[in-house]
Order: sequence, then C-alpha cells, then structure tokens
Amino acid sequence: MDSEENIRSLRMAVRAWLRENVPAGWREAMTGTDQASFVSAQRDWFAKLSEAGYATPHWPEGWPGGGRSLVEQKVIFEEVARADAPRLILFFVALYHAACTLLECGTAEQRERYLPGILAGEIWCQGFSEPNAGSDLASLKTRAERRGDHYVINGQKTWSTMAQYADRCLLLARSDRSGPPQAGLTYLLLDMKSKGVSVRPISQITGDDEFAEIFFDDVEVPVTDRVGEEGNGWAVAQATLASERGLTLVELSQRMRYSLPLLRDLMRARRCEGDSAARRDLGALIARVDATCALADQYLLKRISGTEVAGDASMVKLHYSRTLREFVSLGRRLSGLQGQYDPGFMRGATQETGNWTLDFMNSYNWSIAGGSDEIQRNIIAERLLGMAREPKNWQLESPA
Ligand SMILES: Cc1cc2nc3c(=O)[nH]c(=O)nc-3n(C[C@H](O)[C@H](O)[C@H](O)COP(=O)(O)OP(=O)(O)OC[C@H]3O[C@@H](n4cnc5c(N)ncnc54)[C@H](O)[C@@H]3O)c2cc1C
Repeated sequence: MDSEENIRSLRMAVRAWLRENVPAGWREAMTGTDQASFVSAQRDWFAKLSEAGYATPHWPEGWPGGGRSLVEQKVIFEEVARADAPRLILFFVALYHAACTLLECGTAEQRERYLPGILAGEIWCQGFSEPNAGSDLASLKTRAERRGDHYVINGQKTWSTMAQYADRCLLLARSDRSGPPQAGLTYLLLDMKSKGVSVRPISQITGDDEFAEIFFDDVEVPVTDRVGEEGNGWAVAQATLASERGLTLVELSQRMRYSLPLLRDLMRARRCEGDSAARRDLGALIARVDATCALADQYLLKRISGTEVAGDASMVKLHYSRTLREFVSLGRRLSGLQGQYDPGFMRGATQETGNWTLDFMNSYNWSIAGGSDEIQRNIIAERLLGMAREPKNWQLESPA
C-alpha cells in the first residue's frame, strides 16, 4: 500500500541503510585503469544491495526484494541518488532489460533458468545496435539461420555496454529478409562463452571502454533460448526498451540536483561568487534542473495513473540530456584552464563528478544512448505535436 505513512517509513529505512552501507571511497575503487577493482567494487555493491532487497524492487512478488509498487521503486532510486551511492552499471542490463524481458515475454522455463543467475550476479549485455543500424534499428543485418534445434548466428553488434564482462547477451537478429524491416527479427538469449563469439572493447575519448563490439562467426544458439516466436523479435525488443520505465531518469535528475553544490563550491574556489554573469547562469541552471526533476516525476505519475502518451518519455530524456550538457559546460567554463588538465578517468562514473572535462565528455553518452536527441525531437514533433511524419529516405537538398 502506497499510503503516505508507508512511503515515509520506506524512505527513512532506505536512507538509514544507505548511510550505513554506501562504501566509503567507492569512487577511488572505480577510478583509474584497474578493471579488476572496478568489477569487484561493483560486485560487492550489487551483493549488498541485493541482500537488502534494494536491487530488485521492480521484480514481481515472490522474488527476493520484489513486489514493490512504482512509487516505492521511485523512493529507492531517489534515496540512492541522494546518498550519492554507486550506480549498478555492470548489472543494469541483467536486472532491468534481461529480467523484465523474461518476465514479460519469456517462458516459465526460461524464467526459472535465467532469473536465479541474474540474482546471483550474472552480467548481461544488450546486442541490438550494429554499425549501420542504430537510430534505424530495424535495418539490422546480423543473421539468425534456423538449422534443426538451433539458430546459427553470423554478423556484428556494436556499442554493447559492458559486453566484455558479460555472461549473456540479449540478441536481436534477422531470421527472414523477405518482408518489411521490422518483420523477420528474432530475439535470442546468447551465451557469450559460445564458440564463435569474439568481443572487442571500444576505447572512448574519456579513456574508458564501457562498451564493445561483438562478432558472431557461426555461433549456435538453441531454439529453447528464443524469446517469443520466430519473426516476432521487434515486439519482444519493445519490452526490453521499456523495461526501466523512466526510473533511471528520476535517479539521474535527482543526482544532478544533489550535485549543484559542486558548482557553488567551484564558484567559491574560483572567487567568482560575485560575478554577475556566473550567478545568472547558475540561477538559470538551478531552475532548469528543478524542471527536469519535475518532468521526470510527472512522467512517472503518468505511468502510474495510466495517462502516459507517446512522446512523454522523449520529453524527459531530451530535457535531461540538454540540462546535463549545460550543467557540465558551466562547470567547465567556471573552472577555467584548471578544468582542462588531463582528466584521468573513472569507470562507470556518475555524470557529475566535478572532474569537468571528463564530465563534459561523458555527457555526450546521454544525448546518444537510448535514442539520440534528434530522434527524441522527431518523436515529440510527430507524436506529441501531431506534425507530419518524417518522409522515408529523406535527403538534404544539395546546394544549387
Ligand atoms: C553510452 C552508450 C551506450 C550504449 N549502449 C548500447 C547497448 O548496450 N546496446 C546496444 O545495442 N546499443 C547501445 N548503444 C547504441 C545506441 O543505441 C546508438 O548509438 C543510438 O541508437 C544511435 O545510433 P548510431 O550510433 O548508429 O547513430 P546513427 O543512427 O547513425 O545517427 C547518427 C546521427 O544522425 C542523427 N540521425 C539519425 N537518424 C535521424 C533522423 N531520422 N532524423 C534526424 N537525425 C537523425 C542522429 O541523431 C545522430 O546524430 C549505446 C550508445 C551509447 C552512446
């Protein structure tokens, strides 16, 4: 029951637990080039959160930690942000994308087979994007050819977050090329240790390599690891994409709000508290951050009351990504030359670390991942404003 009393006492319990359990110095454990310390810090944090029941509040009743309402889940996300606790970046795809897809579209046997592994700390990755299929995901070409009781996979995926650590992959592949692009896709659960899988981490400008390319060379996947019917992968993929239901944006916008003192402290350190241009920009940013938090909250309330319309999620995502860019740009500008030193890097960094050059570079993740800003604008124009649909195969007019 979401009575005010229950929600308040959950909030206090989560807050007290976080106060006791957020590992001191977790940022240091995740800074630098040491992969092993990053992975073990993430595993330790996952184990703690999971034991307390705060890693799986979105799972149904009957599973450890499960059965929480959307309001309760929101409280947990807000408190995690407030406590500046680490994000579960290594396990996010497993806990949300994989688990929710299995819960919504998997068979009972698949749920029994895979959910306990996720609870035990298995890492999953999402293999949707390809070098020529990102915004236009339906044009993907990785092939899944049925041969008896298994599929044979050939092709390539890219930008797959944490794929180099993953035990399993949510794979969207083409099993039929004869129809329209969204038909003929099949959704498979692929064991990353299968023969013929190779993974190549992608080095980013930040120095991190949080995603990777995956190559498939005659990889066999049993038919029992297909989710949904053959050729129905597009519909299953929608369950994957909708799996976290806006909670991430609630958490991220709250993190931005709790990080505002970084900018105040920077102004003090740089002795520009009295600078009217800097004060004006900070004031405008505070208002924008507040608006982002309000939009994220409103979006979640719409989901709870069933009044969400197509395009609402795009508004929040776009607002968040633009506000984040303004936040880190202001930090970078105020920190002057000092902010331009070699930033080092931090694996799985939250967005606002006060390491402004690194934060600035990382902010680009959010204007691309999960649908770029341009795509969100198209969705808002077409679905919220009812403007004409973008013509297929549009081309910029070449200058006369
Ligand atoms: C941090 C991060 C993590 C990611 N993790 C994963 C993952 O785990 N698994 C996975 O499968 N993918 C992942 N991705 C990939 C992501 O989904 C794609 O990068 C994204 O969908 C954009 O596709 P693209 O990179 O192919 O760019 P493209 O689609 O080629 O777009 C290039 C540019 O053209 C613009 N553009 C494209 N089409 C239009 C249009 N119709 N109208 C106007 N402008 C347009 C885009 O906005 C962009 O600026 C991740 C990406 C990032 C940045």
